[in-house]
Amino acid sequence: MKETTRLSTHDLHCHSTASDGKLSPTELVNMAAQKDVKTLALTDHDTTNGLQEASAAADKVNINLIPGIELSTTWSDKCFHVVGLNIDAENPRLKKGVKGLQAKRLKRADLIADKLAEKGIGGAIADSVKAIAGDGMITRAHFAEYLVEHGYGSTVKDIFKHFLVSGKPGFVATRWAELDEAISWITDAGGVAVLAHPIRYKLSGRQMQRLLTAFKAVGGAGIEVICGNNSLEDTRKSANLARQYQLAGSVGSDFHSPNKSWAMLGKLPPLPEDIEPIWSHWC
Ligand code: AMP
Ligand code: MN
Ligand code: MN
Ligand code: MN
Repeated sequence: MKETTRLSTHDLHCHSTASDGKLSPTELVNMAAQKDVKTLALTDHDTTNGLQEASAAADKVNINLIPGIELSTTWSDKCFHVVGLNIDAENPRLKKGVKGLQAKRLKRADLIADKLAEKGIGGAIADSVKAIAGDGMITRAHFAEYLVEHGYGSTVKDIFKHFLVSGKPGFVATRWAELDEAISWITDAGGVAVLAHPIRYKLSGRQMQRLLTAFKAVGGAGIEVICGNNSLEDTRKSANLARQYQLAGSVGSDFHSPNKSWAMLGKLPPLPEDIEPIWSHWC
């Protein structure tokens, strides 16, 4: 007998062309509908620009669109991503904070281009990379795309490894929003703050303990338990963190593109039943 695997009908972490995703907000919503996702959050990097379009598209295909954002933060000199869910994108404090992050992104893009040029990589590429990003928030993923196109590596993954991470020629250390201020923008905007992809930071047990203690103390409400590229072990560890720190659990693919098979829409397993779902905060 064929075993039927239960899948989550929620996906609360996705990107569109408003940042480094490949699908427009409308295309993303339509694809999610095709894949039987019922509740979708659009969470672009440091922007809410795609939300209006996504919301209009969601109305047409009967998807419950949760307005979201993925904020870049710095805590203890490391970068952590905090997903804000069910936010009011018009909230003035959130808007002001996001504007500051957008300015940092633009400035960093110029610095990355300069650093690469100093090492003889690419020349004056800032404008070309900005053109790839188009109206979207510029990210390292856009630099990676440019460098693949120009033969500096065969995959985006290779480009990150050789050029764009700490210690490599195109890495620019950036002080993003403070963790507490980013969380306060989200909560001020009526949203809930979720620590994105906890396993990806490669923290020791002690570091994770410090992070989650601080995250909770400043109003963090949830942690992603189910992520697009989790192994079973990653999910087990994340679920245990949710239990240990009494954080609600979230489910998000971190979908960017139909070509990244590890972060596909409509393929996520459900949250373990004993973990409070983050959506109980707004349902
Ligand atoms: P940024 O926020 O501008 O530093 O860029 C981070 C984005 O780059 C992430 O959201 C991913 O989309 C992408 N990214 C980061 N690391 C990698 C990697 N090793 N391979 C592919 N994409 C990556
Ligand atoms: Mn991204
Ligand atoms: Mn992220
Ligand atoms: Mn993301």
